Amino acid sequence: KRDNVDIEKLEQDVAQLDSKNAEFKNFSSLPLSEPTRAGLKANHFTTLTDIQAKAIPLALKGSDILGAAKTGSGKTLAFLIPVLENLYRAQCVGSDAGLGAMIISPTRELAIQIFEVLRSIGGKGHLFAAGLIIGGKSLEVERQALTRMNIVVCTPGRILQHLSQTALFNVDGLKMLVLDEADRILDMGFQRDVDAIIEYLPPERQTLLFSATQTKRVSDLARLSLQDPEYVSVHEAA
Ligand code: ADP
Ligand code: MG
Repeated sequence: KRDNVDIEKLEQDVAQLDSKNAEFKNFSSLPLSEPTRAGLKANHFTTLTDIQAKAIPLALKGSDILGAAKTGSGKTLAFLIPVLENLYRAQCVGSDAGLGAMIISPTRELAIQIFEVLRSIGGKGHLFAAGLIIGGKSLEVERQALTRMNIVVCTPGRILQHLSQTALFNVDGLKMLVLDEADRILDMGFQRDVDAIIEYLPPERQTLLFSATQTKRVSDLARLSLQDPEYVSVHEAA
């Protein structure tokens, strides 16, 4: 019950958020759930980086995002906070709720890093079931884990294998797709895998695409995967 009251209040605050004009400096000025606030606090995150300040308010309101900012600028939280919050407000939580978010990373190492950040931010009261699908375990073990996940962090080849081979892997309720390090995903030759993955996903989802560089191939992928996106980029000071 208490949760429902909190969620209604959050919905109102997000609806009223002026994501295009207001300038957000601290996480405390954003409409975030208590578990996310607690996770940020436990990790001593107080001030948003530039890319976070631009992307998070828009993403909280449901926009598709094409985000570009150099390595080290804080892109991970720029997508993980909206994933946690948008699923929380949608109450896509628990083993019966199904898969709500898919986060695609070019390499296993980067996927593990994202998962660790997700655990450290999301582990303070959030009840999501999250997992990694990056190979290295049997398909059967991964398959069973997948059926209970709300958030999956994965590499393109492995998740495509599940989408094409696992009849019970249902992504119809997927609300968010994140393509992290999209430039590297493409450099590593995963274009066709990502195209194929997108074919399986419901078109009304929200998609967040982040990249360190803006290239022709990234904008081609953006055209294919995003709907009416907000362009968010942070340039280095000259
Ligand atoms: P990117 O994906 O853009 O390369 P990361 O998301 O990996 O960047 O973040 C780079 C570093 O900055 C990490 O060590 C992370 O903990 C730190 N960081 C991210 N956001 C903040 C923040 N708001 N305040 C302080 N440090 C942050
Ligand atoms: Mg990154």
